[in-house]
Amino acid sequence: MREQDEVKGLLASLKVYLEDLRESGVDGLPYAAPAAGAARAAETNEVAVAPGGVRETLEDIRAELGECGRCGLGGTRTNLVFGVGNSRARLVFVGEAPGRDEDLQGEPFVGEAGQLLTKIIQAMGFKREDVYICNVLKCRPPNNRNPLPAEIEQCHPFLLRQLKAIAPVAVVALGTFAAQTLLNTREPISKLRGHFHDYHDIPLMPTFHPAFLLRNAAMKREVWEDMQQVMRLLGKEPLKKQDA
Ligand code: URA
Repeated sequence: MREQDEVKGLLASLKVYLEDLRESGVDGLPYAAPAAGAARAAETNEVAVAPGGVRETLEDIRAELGECGRCGLGGTRTNLVFGVGNSRARLVFVGEAPGRDEDLQGEPFVGEAGQLLTKIIQAMGFKREDVYICNVLKCRPPNNRNPLPAEIEQCHPFLLRQLKAIAPVAVVALGTFAAQTLLNTREPISKLRGHFHDYHDIPLMPTFHPAFLLRNAAMKREVWEDMQQVMRLLGKEPLKKQDA
């Protein structure tokens, strides 16, 4: 009983203290993820959230990655490509991994496929800086080979944390690799695309990768149908044919 009274007393003092802070204009408390908690979050895909429910920021996550050497790609990359865009974006695009141009510039989707992605984003009525763009892997696999399971295992938890920090309304997974990795499935992209899936409570639309569209222009129609569904979810009016 005495213990219960002590806890009640402590909670009452804490409440008064927090109310004082709020009245003096403090609307949040700084949060540094405890090292053990952050490590466990990375291991388990759990998102590190402070007791008050404060979300970690992209800066926290970037800082924790540091000069990442968690997998072998740390030794072959030029730049770690973390992600770019609006940290409060309502829409996030996730690709596979940086290519040569991205590795050199440290920014995702800046090569030829990236230019097509920018056009898709603009056709949806956004600017590139309105959305957030990143990849499943943050470092370029040598000669653009397919990512290895051990690389995905190290990198994916950081992507999940980025997405939880941004908390977008929707995610678009670009291409087979991103869609299959995020949805933990071997279903072909042709079956996955065209409808929303659940990714940790965020609606996720798989669609064809812009690099694939560069070789298969006829598939642009399917991508546009997928993006119109995304726009509807975001409350954006689909553009009329002549506007697209
Ligand atoms: N392809 C991807 O999947 N990501 C990039 O950043 C560039 C090309």
